[in-house]
Amino acid sequence: MPDGAPPLPARTLKTPRDLAAAGLLPAGAVPGAEAVAARYSIAVTPAVAALIDPADPADPIARQYLPDAAELHTAPHELADPTADAPFTPVKGVVHRYPDRALLKPLLACPVYCRFCFRREAVGPDGGLLTGAELDAALAWFARTPQVREAILTGGDPLMLSPRRLGGMLGRLAALPHIELLRVHSRVPVAAPDLVTEALAAALETAQERGKPLYLCVHANHAREFTPAAIAALARLQRAGAVLLGQSVLLRGVNDSAAALEDLFRAMLRARVKPYYLHQLDPAPGTARFAVPVEDGRALLRALRGRVTGLAWPTYVQERPAGGGKVPLGPEFSPGAG
Ligand code: SF4
Repeated sequence: MPDGAPPLPARTLKTPRDLAAAGLLPAGAVPGAEAVAARYSIAVTPAVAALIDPADPADPIARQYLPDAAELHTAPHELADPTADAPFTPVKGVVHRYPDRALLKPLLACPVYCRFCFRREAVGPDGGLLTGAELDAALAWFARTPQVREAILTGGDPLMLSPRRLGGMLGRLAALPHIELLRVHSRVPVAAPDLVTEALAAALETAQERGKPLYLCVHANHAREFTPAAIAALARLQRAGAVLLGQSVLLRGVNDSAAALEDLFRAMLRARVKPYYLHQLDPAPGTARFAVPVEDGRALLRALRGRVTGLAWPTYVQERPAGGGKVPLGPEFSPGAG
């Protein structure tokens, strides 16, 4: 923060006026951002606000989280439900796209609202907390679907749940004999590391008491997101037995250079997070400013090959249309080729 800048916020900023008052959004951008706010949720946590350099108009952290009037334009190819969750939803809160695994979406609230989110039409602060009866119905579906071996909690962000609620949910899933693995997808460790309390870690630990491993997939797109607080939060989750994986989205203006990706994947490894997926952007409404062509993505990964350890190498994937699932995008190499 430059000298004379407003003090950093003590609470999550949820409106364009909040963002402007904190010095993160220029006053001239407020009217456009208000129009965006009428359609899509906004949230910038104190941890994220502290990372933004308001003096840099191309700041890669700001770009991920600050609303932009460009979001009001939906390109012809963009879809409200780009991964087609709806047709694969057997009961509320469950998405069953692949035979051996299924998603459980216990809530649709997040600590931050990413401007490129593929579920941006669904997520929000009021969003989608399953009632007790709905959760019972979702867990009953898992119980009567023995081909599902892996239960994946996503949302929204499951680490926004209270430790008691999260631990109970994971424990009930782990108690099913056919569930071999638990997985949780979250932005919390980097966006709101203060939420990773000992109580939350204990909830994850309890859920593994039946010997079922828990993989925690942290969503981060820039090396700067791995602050000391984020690294401490990840270490706490790891001490609770979670195996840490990283997932990122390839985003124009955020990480679309070989240097930015190298820094990101190295930051993950230093935090004991294995880079798992690099996602091609899903075509959600108003996100075209983040799109990187697939050929450019392949070229970036090609440039990284040999430059970084194989441990830093994620699988570059794209969701096929109409819920067809993920497909690896390469790049491919042949023996002897440079
Ligand atoms: S945290 Fe995940 S689900 Fe929430 S807005 Fe960001 S990308 Fe979307």
